[in-house]
Amino acid sequence: MYSDSTYVRVKDKLALFSDTSACWEWPMSKTRAGYGQLTYREDNSTKLAYAHRASFEIAKGPIPDGMCVCHTCDNPGCFNPSHLFIGSHQQNMADMASKGRTKKGKSYPIGDAHWAKGRRKEVQGSNNGNSKLEEADVIEILRSSEKNVRLAERFGVSQTIISMIKKRKVWAHVSPSV
Ligand SMILES: [Zn+2]
Repeated sequence: MYSDSTYVRVKDKLALFSDTSACWEWPMSKTRAGYGQLTYREDNSTKLAYAHRASFEIAKGPIPDGMCVCHTCDNPGCFNPSHLFIGSHQQNMADMASKGRTKKGKSYPIGDAHWAKGRRKEVQGSNNGNSKLEEADVIEILRSSEKNVRLAERFGVSQTIISMIKKRKVWAHVSPSV
C-alpha cells in the first residue's frame, strides 16, 4: 500500500485514457527499467511507488503480499489495469524469460534486491535515467522568482514539471537552502 496521495495522483492520470485495448503509457517519470514511478513522503523519507501497482490496486483491489503485478502487454511503462495481472516472482520471471527479457548469464536477484522492487536511490535525483534536470537545476528553480513558463523554457521541461517542483510534489528531497 502506498500513500493516499499516490492513489489520487494515479487516478488523475488514469482519467487521461479510455481505450482499454491500448497501452496506457505512464506520462510521468520512469525507473531505469521503464516502470512508471511516483514518489511520496512517509516517515520522513522519500518512497517509491510503482504506477502499475497503484493502478492495479485502484482498479482491482489490494495486491497479495509478495506478489508481482505483471503486464500482459510486456510493456513496463503501461499502467492500463486491463493489461495487468497478479503473478508470483516465479511466474513473473518465467514470463519474462519466455518473452526474452532476462539477460543471458545474469542470475536474477530475488526479494528486496529484485528489479521489480526498485531502488529508492534511482528516484532520488539525477541518478534517474529519465531525469532531464540535475539537483542544481531544481535548487535554482526553487529559488527563482521567474514565471513557470520562463523556467520551463530555460530548463527544457514542461510547465507541469516546474509547477510540481515548486509545490514540492517531485524532487521533494532537494532542499533549496543547501
Ligand atoms: Zn499495456
